[in-house]
Amino acid sequence: MDFYKNTLGNMQKAAGIMHLDSEVLEALSHPQKTLMVSLPVRMDDGTLKVFEGFRVQHSELRGPFKGGIRYFPEVNLDEVKALATEMSFKCAVVGIPYGGGKGGIKCDTKKMSEGELERMTRKYVQATYQIVGPEHDIPAPDMYTNGQIMAWFMDEYSRLVNKYQPGVVTGKPIEVGGSLGRDTATAQGGVYVLEEYLNTLDEKDRKTDYKVVVQGFGNAGQHAADILHNLGYTIVGVSDSKGGLYNEKGMDPQAIMKTKKEKGSVIESSEGKAVKPHEILEVPCDILVLAAMENQVTEENMKNIKARIMLELANGPTSGDADEYLSKNGVVIIPDILANAGGVTVSYFEWLQNQQAYYWPLEEVKMKLKRIMQESFARVHHFQEEYKCTMRQAAYISAFDRLEKAMKLRGSGANLRCKIYR
Ligand code: NAD
Repeated sequence: MDFYKNTLGNMQKAAGIMHLDSEVLEALSHPQKTLMVSLPVRMDDGTLKVFEGFRVQHSELRGPFKGGIRYFPEVNLDEVKALATEMSFKCAVVGIPYGGGKGGIKCDTKKMSEGELERMTRKYVQATYQIVGPEHDIPAPDMYTNGQIMAWFMDEYSRLVNKYQPGVVTGKPIEVGGSLGRDTATAQGGVYVLEEYLNTLDEKDRKTDYKVVVQGFGNAGQHAADILHNLGYTIVGVSDSKGGLYNEKGMDPQAIMKTKKEKGSVIESSEGKAVKPHEILEVPCDILVLAAMENQVTEENMKNIKARIMLELANGPTSGDADEYLSKNGVVIIPDILANAGGVTVSYFEWLQNQQAYYWPLEEVKMKLKRIMQESFARVHHFQEEYKCTMRQAAYISAFDRLEKAMKLRGSGANLRCKIYR
């Protein structure tokens, strides 16, 4: 199923369960603004290449638009709309004062030099700087974007507005206004939520040795594997875009990270045996951490999933059909808008530190993140008990509850401005 339709489907299901005012659902089913840009870039060989870029601003009901930028060959407008919509819900689930946005450029970073990436990033800023800004729309890294790209973004934006503006993006390196703990925040936040969920189980349902598979070994997946390994979980499988690595006895994520850095993929590691990328989702395990991309668990493979718990660090990794089937069969899915919200939460901390020009120690970041993730889980758990629904539906209900209140308090003009630019 299409990612955007899936997101709208999740919203509709939750709205039906909580009997949401239909106007609130209608307003939030459309992004406020959609920008598409063409980015002409001089390549290293002297030729001119035009890249397609997007920025979708879904809702600013609860604060400035907030959401990452992904550089990916298949990125498209519907995908960015889905991701922007999810951001509005994610920020509402964790109660941070942001709306939702997302951006992307259709490109293959693996085939581009550093100079080409920098020129393309600066073109993207030139094309979007009038609609972004610390009080308007604050991008961050996502798939195949990183701290270096955020540093170029901040530099170009500051140049264009003639003012040092570190708060225009988050996920920056520490040296240019980044926050301690941002690199591990998505994974750490997900682990806090996972442990809160496990704490709700009866003693008889709790295991001492959970076997974990992590799909995707980038920012979110690597740190998740490492944090879980250090807590005593057994990492039996990992994967990246080239393939999977499996060892039922357990593997050391640090050793796999070292090999991936040196040789480009987890499959080169001697920690386990290589398997095909899709096979890693189907190996025996208790917890499946989805940390790659959308639409990974679908109608095609849902019957082969062995995990009893799925932690969605990626956005939209489970299709609507698979979600329904697995939930009916007792698989607990900790949904993306809750599970991976640690990333945007520490982005919010970074932005606060930029606004104050005062930087916090790591312990303070971790303590504040833990409190927000635990409180957000408790609120979702409360709605799950009240409405007897899945955790995904409860997370959407938790977000709708805050979004609806904001919309009604702000009045009928709020969130009803939809424009298409080209
Ligand atoms: P990343 O670019 O750092 O890593 C992506 C990883 O996924 C890479 O290891 C890549 O090889 C792997 N991958 C790509 N296609 C794959 C496939 N078909 N099978 C297995 N592995 C595959 O990206 P990231 O920042 O870690 O983001 C991963 C997911 O987490 C995305 O859905 C992103 O939107 C979501 N997310 C990330 C953050 C964050 O702070 N980084 C926050 C919230 C959500």
